[in-house]
Amino acid sequence: MSSPTKPQGFATRAIHSGRDKSDPHGSLTSPIYMTSTFEFDTAEQGGARFAGEEGGYIYTRLGNPTLNELEQKLAELEGAEACLTVASGMGAISSVFWSFVSPGDEILVDETLYGCTFAFFRHGMERFGITVRHVDMRDPENLTREISDKTRVVYFETPANPNMRIVDIKAISEIAHTKGAKVVVDSTYCTPYLQNPIALGADIVVHSATKYLGGHGDLMAGVILSSTEDMEQIRYVGLKDMTGAVLSPMNAFLITRGLKTLELRMERHCDNAEKIASFLEGNNKVEKVFFPGLPSFDQYELAKTQMRRFGGMIAFELNGGHDAGLKFLNSLELCKIAVSLGDAETLVEHPASMTHSTYEPEERARFGITEGLVRISAGLETADDILADINQALNYS
Ligand SMILES: *Cc1c(COP(=O)(O)O)cnc(C)c1O
Repeated sequence: MSSPTKPQGFATRAIHSGRDKSDPHGSLTSPIYMTSTFEFDTAEQGGARFAGEEGGYIYTRLGNPTLNELEQKLAELEGAEACLTVASGMGAISSVFWSFVSPGDEILVDETLYGCTFAFFRHGMERFGITVRHVDMRDPENLTREISDKTRVVYFETPANPNMRIVDIKAISEIAHTKGAKVVVDSTYCTPYLQNPIALGADIVVHSATKYLGGHGDLMAGVILSSTEDMEQIRYVGLKDMTGAVLSPMNAFLITRGLKTLELRMERHCDNAEKIASFLEGNNKVEKVFFPGLPSFDQYELAKTQMRRFGGMIAFELNGGHDAGLKFLNSLELCKIAVSLGDAETLVEHPASMTHSTYEPEERARFGITEGLVRISAGLETADDILADINQALNYS
């Protein structure tokens, strides 16, 4: 029996919340509004909508019912006032930065970042007069030392791609806020099911919904979550005027569909990753395993304080370094050699030559992305089958 005061569980909210009940036919799944524009009854109505005097849709880059339904659901799941869905994770990140930084500003970002995010900061933002400094955010003291009155945004991933470093969201947010900087967290690896950065003090959360939120490897999408006030800026400056990274209603529908099984999928991803990490740790060809759920992991205690479980991503280093890593990939039969993550299929890649080739070799060395590192996105297959494939591939590497 449900009591009216007890909050609903994650899976219930992922299935039911945000539902647009305006469909006249009672369709159980909401219709997909595949339209670029919306017809006004009168010229005056169009004017009133543009002036913000009347609600209602105008043009899909500014809002669309299918996107809106997904945004309501994600805001609810992440515990944010507002959500915006966009065309990709990079669209989410760039829309946030174009909304809040100007020439002369400084941003402080972690050392290990998704490769294209690193490139956006290093080769993109710097061309427009923004100072980008990398800080090892694992130790909040480093931020205290580096932050200044010019710092507008503090940005990090946790766990960080690809080497699984964990950043203390609460401690970093407190320090950033003493200088009025906004804290932006890329929580792609966790989804709202495993971690809620806003509850720990962050201002803005971004996700690549291409990964676990979509969950089936069949679309590109990004998500931004923040206060209503920040979202006004991001929607009407960042997305509308700067990036135009608008999500297709079809893809929004597919994500809404994927969210119905997010809890089930994440539990399975976590189960499989724990099994793979323990298996790798016990293998004599493996030099080191990076997985926040292993008690041997440096930041295991911190991970436990801010993540519900440890996620589906694992990185490891083979004794034979770079060459052994490539041999391992080429020996896999069931697991796929592919970038991306969070899909039903187990995906394995080599960051130094693939996702993190945007870093110069010296930068990789300095930031802890070693040449032999192999990254695994644990899929949803039967665990024994994944382990058997990894085991046979290790024998060749
Ligand atoms: C994939 C990814 C991104 C970029 O998202 P796209 O949807 O590919 O644009 C950003 N951050 C992390 C952590 C990612 O894994």
